[in-house]
Amino acid sequence: MDFRLSDEQQMAVDSFRRFLEDVIRPAIAAHDDTFIPKDEMQGLLKQLLQFGMGNGLASEADGGMGLDPVTFGLLFEELSRVSPDVAIVVLIQEETGLLLSAASDELKAQYLGPLLEGDKFGSIGISEPAVGSNIADIKCRAKVDGDDLLITGEKQWISGGHYSDFNVTVARESDDGAAGIGLYLVDRAQGYESQNIPKLALNRQSTAQLFFDKVRIPKSQVLFPPGQGLKRLMTLLEGSRPLVGLMAVGISQAALDYSIAYAKERKQHGKPIGAHQLIQARIAEMAVKVEASRLMLFKALDQVGRGIRSDFQSGMAKYFAAEAAIEIIRHAMAIHGGNGVTREFPIEELYRIAPILTVTEGTPEMQKLIIGRSLLGMPAF
Ligand SMILES: Cc1cc2nc3c(=O)[nH]c(=O)nc-3n(C[C@H](O)[C@H](O)[C@H](O)COP(=O)(O)OP(=O)(O)OC[C@H]3O[C@@H](n4cnc5c(N)ncnc54)[C@H](O)[C@@H]3O)c2cc1C
Repeated sequence: MDFRLSDEQQMAVDSFRRFLEDVIRPAIAAHDDTFIPKDEMQGLLKQLLQFGMGNGLASEADGGMGLDPVTFGLLFEELSRVSPDVAIVVLIQEETGLLLSAASDELKAQYLGPLLEGDKFGSIGISEPAVGSNIADIKCRAKVDGDDLLITGEKQWISGGHYSDFNVTVARESDDGAAGIGLYLVDRAQGYESQNIPKLALNRQSTAQLFFDKVRIPKSQVLFPPGQGLKRLMTLLEGSRPLVGLMAVGISQAALDYSIAYAKERKQHGKPIGAHQLIQARIAEMAVKVEASRLMLFKALDQVGRGIRSDFQSGMAKYFAAEAAIEIIRHAMAIHGGNGVTREFPIEELYRIAPILTVTEGTPEMQKLIIGRSLLGMPAF
């Protein structure tokens, strides 16, 4: 094991940090947790592409940068520290790109190329109003109609949904259980509609409901036929859950950085609060949890990069990091005293973001059930 970054990785992280401070932080600060219009978000995304954010994980053959997951994760954590909102946009572009890697050449030319250039926004529609943790229960229908399919249903909580030019829609053609789930590419121009959902935080980007009412698509837009969709999604989630975990590490690291600076500056009882033992205990606990989360997540990403099955490691790491972020940011809030709960300071926004990350891409309960299944060899879902 060698935990050191290569010179190339270190240089990439350093130059990305400068870019984030110069470009992304001021752009984000101009929006107080309010929706960033599509053209503005697209402008940011296009600049991020030079660092492999939005086109990093796709293979070079497909027009991406072909970064290994660990290197991608290093940069993604930095982005998440500065803007979790933009990180979600990047994550969804990346995930959509990976799903399109198996598409036909025509679909790749029409969708994957523009996605990797930042000219099109993708999104992934798994969750529905009545279907969340139990993906196998998908209700959305892809009904065969001659050479076409008619997509009907509603999708809920779709990241990037309001921006999306197309959606990878999870649907079933018939009622024959999990085996029937397929993945279908649906263009917005073919007829789905979206509505943004206001949330506790992360409102600079879109989480949306999508509505499909007999949206007609040709069969050539089947990405994974019935029976292959669920397996592909599970593999995708093994790779993406550590990235959601790194978003938690990003906001946790930000909370730690702010807390250290504040504890050095703020004086009570005749000395900086950082010189009081109980404040140092909070700082130490925060640092330990940030580091433990990070190590677990990068181990998972290393496994993903090596093609090793990672449901167990990814589940453990995502669960731990997201729960740890809540505790870490609670310490940060305490260290900031009254200032911790005001909008003048950044902690209260981090405090609102943390619980959202426990839900996205699988709740703590789902991660524990995945961990338990791996250890016991029996499912308890
Ligand atoms: C900000 C955000 C972005 C998202 N982005 C996307 C996206 O891009 N695409 C997409 O498809 N979805 C997306 N989601 C949806 C997300 O994946 C789901 O919200 C999540 O999987 C949980 O589903 P649910 O909300 O329906 O909760 P439910 O499944 O209804 O769960 C409710 C509660 O019951 C628990 N529970 C469920 N089953 C069991 C069980 N067997 N045993 C014990 N406890 C159980 C859960 O852990 C949870 O605590 C997003 C969600 C959020 C909040």
